Amino acid sequence: MKINSATFISSYADIRKCPAPDKPEFAFIGRSNVGKSSLINALTNQKKLAKTSVKPGKTQTINHFLINESWYLVDLPGYGYASVSKSTREGFGRMIEEYVAKRENISCLFVLIDSRLEPQKNDLSFIHWAGGKGVPLAIIFTKSDKLNKNDLNKNIRKFEKALLEEWDETPPLLVTSAETKLGREDVLSFIQEAIER
Ligand code: GDP
Repeated sequence: MKINSATFISSYADIRKCPAPDKPEFAFIGRSNVGKSSLINALTNQKKLAKTSVKPGKTQTINHFLINESWYLVDLPGYGYASVSKSTREGFGRMIEEYVAKRENISCLFVLIDSRLEPQKNDLSFIHWAGGKGVPLAIIFTKSDKLNKNDLNKNIRKFEKALLEEWDETPPLLVTSAETKLGREDVLSFIQEAIER
């Protein structure tokens, strides 16, 4: 998919104020520092469309961008440092939970995973929780340029294995680097196909 236009539409902390759900929507989420802003900027060929992480404590918002006048790219807040163990689950944040549960035009929620790390508990809980809500998911491994092919494959397989402890199959897995632009076309083609489906 060629990106012809990318326009900032709105930034709200309240899902009721988000744009009318009249276009397919592709949302990006991950822990803070996972490389979400860098990836959004790489996908849209912009330098500063998505701003780098807000500091914890600042108001977090859901940011809508209109791409090619036809679909929304959504930058969701990080699910951060919340403890998500089942017994003391504080949740992933009211806004995120409301968005995932109620936003009706989500074509895909891309969950970003830092490809350098061992599978992290809060990433896995988020994925299993969001999948359980019936939202179409895909996993994007970020910062793939930071490790060699062997280690990259090893980490992806570990993550896959961790997901399969609860599920029979994994969501689609994509590998990217905002630095080298690896996987950019794959993500855009994935979006294109989902729109056309
Ligand atoms: P966010 O908090 O998820 O929005 O993360 P940012 O996009 O702000 O990235 C966090 C840090 O990781 C920054 O220092 C980026 O330069 C760096 N980073 C992000 N993506 C990549 C990547 O693909 N490759 C490399 N080498 N660094 C990256």
